[in-house]
Amino acid sequence: MLDVAVIGAGFAGLSCAQRLASHGQRVAVLEKAPRLGGRLATLVVEGQTIDCGAPFFVAQDAGFRAFVDELIAHGVSKRWTGRLGRVDERGLHDLDDGIDRFICPDGMPDIGRFLARDLDLRLGASAARLELSSERWTIHLDAGETVEAAAVVLALPTPVATQLLETLPPGPLASVSSVHEPLARIEYDPIIAAISMYESSIVLPTYEGIVVRNDGPLEWIGVDSALRADAKYPALVIHGWGWWSREMMGVTDDVALSDLLFEAGRILGDWVELPRARHLQRWRFAGPAQRLDRFWLATDAGPRLGACGDFGPVKDLEGAWRSGVGLAAELGA
Ligand SMILES: Cc1cc2nc3c(=O)[nH]c(=O)nc-3n(C[C@H](O)[C@H](O)[C@H](O)COP(=O)(O)OP(=O)(O)OC[C@H]3O[C@@H](n4cnc5c(N)ncnc54)[C@H](O)[C@@H]3O)c2cc1C
Repeated sequence: MLDVAVIGAGFAGLSCAQRLASHGQRVAVLEKAPRLGGRLATLVVEGQTIDCGAPFFVAQDAGFRAFVDELIAHGVSKRWTGRLGRVDERGLHDLDDGIDRFICPDGMPDIGRFLARDLDLRLGASAARLELSSERWTIHLDAGETVEAAAVVLALPTPVATQLLETLPPGPLASVSSVHEPLARIEYDPIIAAISMYESSIVLPTYEGIVVRNDGPLEWIGVDSALRADAKYPALVIHGWGWWSREMMGVTDDVALSDLLFEAGRILGDWVELPRARHLQRWRFAGPAQRLDRFWLATDAGPRLGACGDFGPVKDLEGAWRSGVGLAAELGA
């Protein structure tokens, strides 16, 4: 039997599992997808790697910054020195906010691969149902197998974690209410993203990333090809805001793509609407719509259950890391 089964191989789950394993606990990470990383994700278009999930991150907490320094020392990540822009009521101008940002030259999932290098990672292992008896957990996988563990960590977007917990009968579910109830209160917003690739003759903006704050549907335009040493074609990644993405969830990929490219074209020029290749990525659970005042959740008596992710007081990857390693410490690492 495992000491801990971590469900979800995103950044939070891998950070938690790596910390637990390095303290001698018997840990396995169960991941539904055939790849690790969750919202750290790439797409390969015409042989070119493009980040289609989180494109960069910040590191303001000293502990997280030390981890980022380790990523830099191993060549996984580097400080982003490219020019950043902002679009607002003043139009397009330089963004000089003094914040250090970091990227991964070979794609963000490299962070996940770095964390998982010594882990028992089971890809394609989708947790379908939980069972609890005598404070021992049985995780039933979609494929019909089971995994037994003394403790379970839910490292999943909260709506997915809540749905999985609610496969428990009422009695066992009540015994983990200190985790279940806060999790059930947090909803997630979607993000719809356009990935577009252009002919080499296109003259790209000198900005490598543009934050959009103009009341329109766009939140971000990233010039992904500027981050890759071997990029053959110019490539953009364009994110819509959560409110817009929610409205567009029911429309076809073509309609959502055309809207995103049209809006980005209003900022960068008409050429944006004429890519040589285009792709739509729908993130149903991109980020929490509400936040908890705690980084992680854990039962303090009875069955050992924890939850980690980006639902806490600090957002995004930094929050997910603090959640994962904080929960690992609470579980004895
Ligand atoms: C488009 C986009 C842009 C973003 N931009 C930024 C940014 O610029 N900077 C930044 O810092 N952050 C950004 N983020 C947020 C950042 O990606 C997340 O905060 C972080 O990756 C969350 O990690 P996580 O481990 O909590 O969750 P996830 O990455 O969602 O991991 C959850 C994992 O659980 C797996 N899973 C789901 N169900 C099951 C199941 N039943 N059984 C087993 N496994 C399951 C999933 O496949 C997934 O791998 C962005 C996110 C998106 C989507």
